Amino acid sequence: MPHRTENDPHKFRRRGVLFVLSSPSGAGKSTIARKLLKADPFLEMSVSYTTRPIRPGEEDGVDYHFIDLEKFREMVANNEFLEWAHVFDHRYGTPRDGVNKILASGRDVLFDIDWQGAQQLFQLAGGDVVRVFILPPSLKELHERLLRRATDPVEVIDARMARATNEVSHWDGYDYVLVNDEVEECFESVHTILQAERLRRSRQTGLIGFIRGLMK
Ligand code: 5GP
Repeated sequence: MPHRTENDPHKFRRRGVLFVLSSPSGAGKSTIARKLLKADPFLEMSVSYTTRPIRPGEEDGVDYHFIDLEKFREMVANNEFLEWAHVFDHRYGTPRDGVNKILASGRDVLFDIDWQGAQQLFQLAGGDVVRVFILPPSLKELHERLLRRATDPVEVIDARMARATNEVSHWDGYDYVLVNDEVEECFESVHTILQAERLRRSRQTGLIGFIRGLMK
């Protein structure tokens, strides 16, 4: 995997980071994901497939690939997903092909997936996954944010609140847990985690050549 482009702050060839960002819906995860992608040219989003209807403001192929249940089942049968799960009565899956392409381009992969996806990916990658969980400052605040977003009917928001409580209970399946009190601060912390993980010795496969040269 070439990792020696001119602007690349990460000098040595290394394995790509599989960077999972999870949170209860509405805790600010999408904003943080967007900021990360904007700030970091070596990170690319894994665009999931979903059977849920498209929301206003979303774009097919950008936010998700929106497909019907039949197509989703077909993709599952063809082993086209690295992982997939039921979330809020719909199905969501991470495409194997998309992730491989990002890794082959020498970039790290950002996953906006739930705890079930994080768990499956962790098992598949033999633990070589960085799992970050973002908590809302309070569940009351989360409810207000969901209402402000106003993209879903009330009963969907209620169901999401129930899910949120359940999702928070999986906080211990993550390597890093942050509270999104202040979005800029939270984003900075998440970016720091990514940068530190890139420098892990075990990930920098190209480091050994440099060390040999040093010792000559
Ligand atoms: P939303 O419908 O609000 O975009 O997403 C609902 C939940 O599904 C979020 O928690 C999101 O992280 C999760 N999700 C999105 N894509 C995937 C995926 O490919 N796999 C899994 N396991 N969860 C996903």
